[in-house]
Amino acid sequence: MPRVLALMAHPDDIEITCAGTLLLLKDAGWDVHLATMTAGDLGSSTLSAAAIARVRRKEAAASAALLGAGYTCLGIEDLTIAHTERQKRIVTGLLRAVRPDVLITHPPVDYMADHEQTSYLARDAAFGSTIPNWKALPPVGTRARRAAPPCAALPSLLYADPIDLATPDGTRAAAHVVVDISAVLERKAAMLAAHASQRAWLHEQHGEDEYLHWMRRVGAERARAFGKRSVTHAEGFVPYRGHAFPKDDVLTSALGRRLVKTLP
Ligand SMILES: [Zn+2]
Repeated sequence: MPRVLALMAHPDDIEITCAGTLLLLKDAGWDVHLATMTAGDLGSSTLSAAAIARVRRKEAAASAALLGAGYTCLGIEDLTIAHTERQKRIVTGLLRAVRPDVLITHPPVDYMADHEQTSYLARDAAFGSTIPNWKALPPVGTRARRAAPPCAALPSLLYADPIDLATPDGTRAAAHVVVDISAVLERKAAMLAAHASQRAWLHEQHGEDEYLHWMRRVGAERARAFGKRSVTHAEGFVPYRGHAFPKDDVLTSALGRRLVKTLP
């Protein structure tokens, strides 16, 4: 069974950016695993870091359960994700444990360093995952005392959309592949809604359900790339084409041309 791993910085990043595509892959028979670098310990103005982290680990696991996916939190603290030797060995440990065919992460340019550093960590840890002399740390959240053996092949690497589809100068980020998620939008919304603490926080600030409105608005904007009325919501990706990584069009192969459009 082919397997996809989504690794992002914080609980709810996956749900905002790529959960629709993960739902479609799951429905197509893929095994899906979710992982976040942190437990979102800065995500509250009232609870302590330890208390909100406990809440958010449960929310992320509940969201993953809706997808039928496993969930791993790598235990790094918010605002401390960095492209360090230790964090790279931790991420390689995750990759060797999950052994994905496809890895989805943040794009290298996003609205904050936690996302950008996760992107670099994911790419380099994937690169190291096949190299016998690169030592990984044992997988976090398991009893294993050693990392699993090196992976046989590099995964296809996909960068999801940046938050708000925004580039640093405020123009729309480019996507090279867009996926029609109209059919699974409500299931994506249910996964995002599982992050109840964050939904409530935004609701308090905006006086309305901004958390879900925001996700739907971004999806509707991305859907315009299809130019079809039947496609109401979409997610965008940029496949990583760098040296040594697979270059096949993995999303079209998995989901078909009806759901996936490749852009110039
Ligand atoms: Zn985030």
